Amino acid sequence: MSIISDIFLNDRYWLKNTHIPSCLLDNRDFIPDTREGLCQIDLEIAQGKISSIILSDSTVIEDSFMDLQGGIIFPGFVDIHTHLDKSHIWERSPNLDGTFDTAMITLRKDTEAFWRPEDIYARMEFGLKCSYAHGTTAIRTHLDSFGEQADLVFKVFKELQTQWQEKIILQAVCLVSLDYFLTDEGVSLADKVADHGEVLGGFTYMNPHLDKQLHQVFRLAEERNLCLDFHVDENNDPNSICLSKVAETAIKHKFVKQIVCGHCCSLAVQPQEVVSQTIKLVKQANIGIVSLPMCNLYLQDRASNTTPYWRGITKVHEFKKQEVPITFASDNCRDPFFGFGDHDVLEVFKESVRIAHLDIPYSDWCSTVTKTPATLMGLSNIGRISVGLDADLILFTARYFSELLSRPQSDRIVLRRGKPINTNLPKYAELDNLTLINQKYSKSI
Ligand SMILES: [Zn+2]
Repeated sequence: MSIISDIFLNDRYWLKNTHIPSCLLDNRDFIPDTREGLCQIDLEIAQGKISSIILSDSTVIEDSFMDLQGGIIFPGFVDIHTHLDKSHIWERSPNLDGTFDTAMITLRKDTEAFWRPEDIYARMEFGLKCSYAHGTTAIRTHLDSFGEQADLVFKVFKELQTQWQEKIILQAVCLVSLDYFLTDEGVSLADKVADHGEVLGGFTYMNPHLDKQLHQVFRLAEERNLCLDFHVDENNDPNSICLSKVAETAIKHKFVKQIVCGHCCSLAVQPQEVVSQTIKLVKQANIGIVSLPMCNLYLQDRASNTTPYWRGITKVHEFKKQEVPITFASDNCRDPFFGFGDHDVLEVFKESVRIAHLDIPYSDWCSTVTKTPATLMGLSNIGRISVGLDADLILFTARYFSELLSRPQSDRIVLRRGKPINTNLPKYAELDNLTLINQKYSKSI
């Protein structure tokens, strides 16, 4: 917001006349005032924490307060599926036909040519600066972890995790194809993930040894007490049933730690009975689902000179109906898998609402970028608005969802522990000193 009120200089103040989605308030006694599920609330902030939450009362005039005039407040965002290590390589490694296969090839060449500690660090930190300025409080990133690269990316990740611990909670998931876990290197990778206290994961694909690979990765996770996070079925092949295979394996293993599965695109092109059976298994296995609408819309159904038809997202409404935890996240950002993005979870939510028709009704869909991903990441103190929690809040001038999702909300106020932060975004030129990020396309990969 252009004018930051002096009110934030006080250790104790009120945010009055706000709109807060009822699903983000732990106290369910508040009755929404709008058909969109927004409650009219006054919040008291004291010593950086939320100290009172009451229904708006205009008759009580506090000493220090800010009247939000109905502006919406969200808790800090939670971005549960990103690839910070790949981000911001577009200029040097664009995907010139926009397909998934070219993205894979382009990424491999970029990795071999450019991935040094300082390059990865600077690009990942650039992403964190954007995320922080937009109001994100926690991020899970997948890290490409084949061979010696695991040491490299995990070392950089660890440095950033420590450096940024006061600002953003960072979690990592190793990313390799599942066959890797049948090798000695794969077992060492599981050890490395355990040493770092992070999440075991990988890229599933249909192959004759999938059951064996899944059994092995579940065994490695059980032995090391690790959570799991998979990329599954990121395609439009009706025969791609990795999600159901993951769920079956989890049930067989009686796996108790949290499992998250991202993408699940092919579910949308499978027969109804297959979909119903898979959703049933996913619920039984207690798997959380992540949909990545922006990246899927970009990559899926891409063919040159052909108009795309399929949206690429998974069956989010059907999962929700069966009370399977559903979340939405950024995925890739300005890399060969997605040529755009700015690590802004509001953009993710906005696009998700439009692509997946989450607006009629809005119901509790805003939990998908706040409370639900926080819960799946084991973080019970963020992504919601509750007395006693840190006042990590995002204040919008928009009063209703249509206003919120129609403008970029670049004037949002981001509070961290009750104080406004600088929401200026890093300049792209910050990355110019890196290897050839400003090179001409003629020299690019
Ligand atoms: Zn991904």
